[in-house]
Amino acid sequence: MTATNPAFSAASISENFARTREQIARTCIEAGRQPDDVILTAVSKTQSPEALSAALAVGQKVFGENRVQEAYQHWAHQREGLELRLIGPLQTNKSEDAVKLFDVIETLDREKLAKALADAMAKSGRSVRVLVQVNTGAEPQKAGVMPQDADALIETARMKYGLAVEGVMCIPPVDEDPVPHFQLLKNIADRNGLAVISMGMSGDFEAAIRCGATHVRVGSALFGARNPAKTG
Ligand SMILES: *Cc1c(COP(=O)(O)O)cnc(C)c1O
Repeated sequence: MTATNPAFSAASISENFARTREQIARTCIEAGRQPDDVILTAVSKTQSPEALSAALAVGQKVFGENRVQEAYQHWAHQREGLELRLIGPLQTNKSEDAVKLFDVIETLDREKLAKALADAMAKSGRSVRVLVQVNTGAEPQKAGVMPQDADALIETARMKYGLAVEGVMCIPPVDEDPVPHFQLLKNIADRNGLAVISMGMSGDFEAAIRCGATHVRVGSALFGARNPAKTG
């Protein structure tokens, strides 16, 4: 099987979930935390209906998606009992669709989007929780508020727009040690009194847990390699 067309196997997805859950629990214990302290967000972007079914079959309930439209295709018809988290960048003109589907939007990174989300929530009568995405590496091309502007955005989102900001999220630069980035995000959460810290992916979720992650976002370690052409 080629990397661009990974073989589908419900059995291997089931094994991957078991192994990943075990690694999370063990890392929590090693870090002096409770084994169920950390929530596994299964990143289901680009996955087939069969792969989604395999994840549901092993009792997975929390899913992360990068794109609003794809998330509708994946979940709108089988949404009951799930927690859906938007982990990709959000354009303001998609705010209404996002608010209608997701429970949590992890990628608030600018005041304009805070306003659009508040307006969308008022219009739909649906309230979603929000994380502020921090660009911990200050990478020009990357989404997220700059670290030095994070406190102000959190305050504005809460006080001016009434959003339920419950935490922070980051995606460290690909070619760097993620630990300083995780520590920076943990500091931002602590000094703003935020309980939720979404950090850590397939390659570094154990390090993230040791740094205080409450949610890890894992895709390829659960589902196998993604088709690169479709990766969000
Ligand atoms: C795709 C993605 C993930 C999952 O990445 P893996 O390396 O496949 O685990 C996590 N977070 C975000 C924001 C993503 O876009």
